[in-house]
Amino acid sequence: MHVGIRAALTAATVAGLVAAGVVVAAQASAGQAKTPAVPAQARAVLAAGDGWGSAGAGTTGGSAADDAHVFVVRTRDELAAAVAGSTPKIVLVAATIDANEGRGCADYADPEYDLQAFLTAYAPATWGRVAPTGPLEDARARSAKNQGLKVKIEVGANTTIYGLRNARIKGGNLLLTNVNNVIIRNVAFEDAYDCFPAWSPTDGDTGNWNSLYDSVTLSGATNVWLDHNSFTDGANQDVNQPIHLGRPYQVHDGAADIIKGSDYVTVSYNNLFEHDKTMLIGSTNTPGADVGKLRVSLHHNRFADVGQRAPRVRFGQVDVYNNYYYATDEDTFVYAIGVGVQSQVYAENNFVLRSADTPLNAFVYNWGGTRMTERGTLARVGTGPVVAVNLLDEYNAAFDPDIATDAGWTPALRAGLDPAASVPGLVTRDAGTGKLPG
Ligand code: CA
Ligand code: CA
Repeated sequence: MHVGIRAALTAATVAGLVAAGVVVAAQASAGQAKTPAVPAQARAVLAAGDGWGSAGAGTTGGSAADDAHVFVVRTRDELAAAVAGSTPKIVLVAATIDANEGRGCADYADPEYDLQAFLTAYAPATWGRVAPTGPLEDARARSAKNQGLKVKIEVGANTTIYGLRNARIKGGNLLLTNVNNVIIRNVAFEDAYDCFPAWSPTDGDTGNWNSLYDSVTLSGATNVWLDHNSFTDGANQDVNQPIHLGRPYQVHDGAADIIKGSDYVTVSYNNLFEHDKTMLIGSTNTPGADVGKLRVSLHHNRFADVGQRAPRVRFGQVDVYNNYYYATDEDTFVYAIGVGVQSQVYAENNFVLRSADTPLNAFVYNWGGTRMTERGTLARVGTGPVVAVNLLDEYNAAFDPDIATDAGWTPALRAGLDPAASVPGLVTRDAGTGKLPG
């Protein structure tokens, strides 16, 4: 079934890869389709000991793919077909892929859906603070379903998705649902927007708009490595959205969310920027599939002017080390590390660059957690002096109840702990797309 979407790299691209020394397999014989060239990094596996993703069976993705299961994709449908199923496969993204395929929100809207009518019908002053029901909400849900059929792309087990030069997935939501062994590297994810946000009148004090799509969602996924990707809202920034029903019309959900009993995940060298709800680890306070799971390592990631959830954690033993928190936009900053129910965050040798209006006591936030280890953080304001700080102590000094200062575990799986002072340089140099051979 994949034959139709197999495509060989252009000769020029192959020549470039050969010149760069990254081609491990490139052959072409007369009368046969070329075997796609595979950058060596696209065959890589997560190194032993590199975070929670290396636990259990380890994370090898599609590294065992045979030549017939190396795909070069340039469209939404090619991507969706190539990543399906559990046969080991390497999927090389070779273009900007628009998951909406050029459709605008009007193209998904159900004939009975009308935003202005929706706003009139469910205005709290008349409808009350209860969940919307009835024909307009039903029409919204049908519209959302139309968009979901396009933008949601299910990724099968034993898959590596690797971005070639300038690879981008725009508006898409890769879903890793109850699958194991997936690697995603060197892909620029941008603006997974929801055309039909849901109105949640009891979310917060005055209600909120909530959206469905993350760029990447791990739901019951085990052994996953997200590495050297970027995540951003791009040109579709939240600040430019209207206010509806008195609240910002939030068309985005997470950048990369890790929920529903997902486990053994390493998130390394990603550049996450200009996005609000960045990384949710655990989506419910109700103990269930998450207990004893949600073990995630985050290292050498750049969190730059993100609003919150960097990450927000429930239940999991989550190791947060050598990350660069670049928090210079006090207007969008909410908090960085969310300490939720039964979470055990261990944060070490992170670096915070902040504006003077982003207080040190705002980096940790208590979402019902009781314990956290935090050590080795350095911080500075702008180009001011670099000072040793303890973000957890700052939180505890300013707020109650306090969070106990021992997460109750010590990370054993690390790729190596760098001094916090070197984090801005290392992460700026190495994190995000375009740093691996493409
Ligand atoms: Ca989500
Ligand atoms: Ca206190």
